[in-house]
Formats: sequence, structure tokens, C-alpha cells
Amino acid sequence: MNPSLWRQAQLNMIYGLFKVTERVYQVRGFDLANITYIKGDRGWIVMDPLLTIESAKAAHALVKQHLGDRPIVAVIYSHSHPDHYGGVRGLVDEADVRSGRVRIIAPEGFMAHAVSEMVLAGSAMARRAAYMYGMFLPRDAQGNVGSGLGIANATGTVSLIAPTQSITKTGQELVIDGVKMVFQLTPDTEAPAEMNTYFPQFKAMWMAENATHTLHNIQTLRGPRSATRWRGPSTCSRRSSCTATGPRSSSRPTTGRCGARRTCATTSRSSATSTSTSTINRCTC
Ligand SMILES: [Zn+2]
Repeated sequence: MNPSLWRQAQLNMIYGLFKVTERVYQVRGFDLANITYIKGDRGWIVMDPLLTIESAKAAHALVKQHLGDRPIVAVIYSHSHPDHYGGVRGLVDEADVRSGRVRIIAPEGFMAHAVSEMVLAGSAMARRAAYMYGMFLPRDAQGNVGSGLGIANATGTVSLIAPTQSITKTGQELVIDGVKMVFQLTPDTEAPAEMNTYFPQFKAMWMAENATHTLHNIQTLRGPRSATRWRGPSTCSRRSSCTATGPRSSSRPTTGRCGARRTCATTSRSSATSTSTSTINRCTC
């Protein structure tokens, strides 16, 4: 096994509930992706509710146990891949979304791409995921030791509730439950519909899956990603140079100016340059 992947697998085993910075928490290791909780004045803003109802419920129970019972006032989907929205019905009742008690925010084009990938191409995508993630290998040192990006895809029920509001341009701002958010659209990068979110009150930049501790593939079986759109300031916001914390929807966060900038630079440069010109690697998402 590649030593870096072995190291990554060991780090991914550090799981549980983490405080990233003031009013920003994450549950890691319950699914392939992380779920992030932002503490509002009254309730929670939940970012990326994992792949399955079961894993989302388990993560929420952990949050409730340690941080108290607060209502979920909004859910934000960073992008159109199911490990970032599939657990939503484990957290939110659709009736509350329809009545306006819970808002669901996503980047423009989210529904079209989510349906295209997981319904129209759903069977092929499921087979691809089974091979790509080695889902039927034994879980041991000779079989499956992890998926790079996270421990593994959870098995369970995948769900979806349509967004109530789309983010349509970079710089768009929202204030929900006393929390200010500034969005940066990053279409045709890691996903065809994706966005980063900046929290100026907490000096925190949520980089979605645009910056991780792994090397994403550009030439994927589900369609090529745009290396040129992924790299540089178009995706790795210049705001990251002034952030204190960089929580992400996969892998671990980085802190401090250097951490945020280094991760961003490494991800964009390696994804856009190395992969697109020389190699086709095992896809990590
Ligand atoms: Zn993704």
C-alpha cells in the first residue's frame, strides 16, 4: 500500500465529535464525508448531512448528547454528490421544510445534477462505487483499510429533500439564525454544482470537497472534471489567506493562515496539473 494512503487511513480513524472553532463543530468518521454543525442564535445550521439517514441520525445523536438539543434551522448542501445530502431525512422532516421552519440551501443546478447522476445514471454509478470503494473486500489490513477521503461509504438509506433556495452567484450573502455566510460558487470542479462558504464572524472557510487531504481524479468514469476551473483563485478563494480555520466536508480541517493556504495550493496545483497531464489515479470521490 502507498505509505501516504496508509497514513491517511490511520488519521481517518480519529473519529467522533470535534470543535473546529467557536460555534463550528464536526462529526467525522461516521461516513465517507464529514457533517458540520454551525451554532446559530437559536439552533443549528447543518452542512452536508452525510450519505444515509442512519449515519446522519447517529451523528446527530452524538451532537445532541454533548451539545444539547437545539432545532435545526437550515441545511446546506455543498454539492450534488450523495455523500453530502443523502442523510437529510434523518435530520429534517419535509413538512418543516415546506412550512418554512427549515431552509435548505444549495448551489445553482444542484437538483439537475443530483438527479442526472444518481437517478438517470444511478445503476451504473452504484456499480462503479462498489468497485471503486472496494465495498465487498474484507475490512482488514489485507482488504479494505479505507477510502482515502474517509473511512468508507455508509450502507443504509439514501434520501433527498429539494433545496428551498439556490445560491446563484459568488459573493451572495445570507444571514440565518444570526450567522452570516458568504458563498463562492465553484461549478465544474469537484462536482458540476458546488460551492464554498465563508463565515466572517468565525473567520472560517468551509471548502466543501474542493480541498481535501487526498488527490482527486480529473478523468473520472462519471465524466471529466475541469482542471482549469478547479485550480487557482477561482476555487481556492483568496479569503483563505485570512482565515483562521478551514473546515471541510471531507478529511480534517486546517488551521491558521499557512494551513489554509497550503492545503488549498496543494489541492489545486496537484489536481489541476499532475492529474490532468500525466496520470489517471483511482478516484477518491
Ligand atoms: Zn464530492
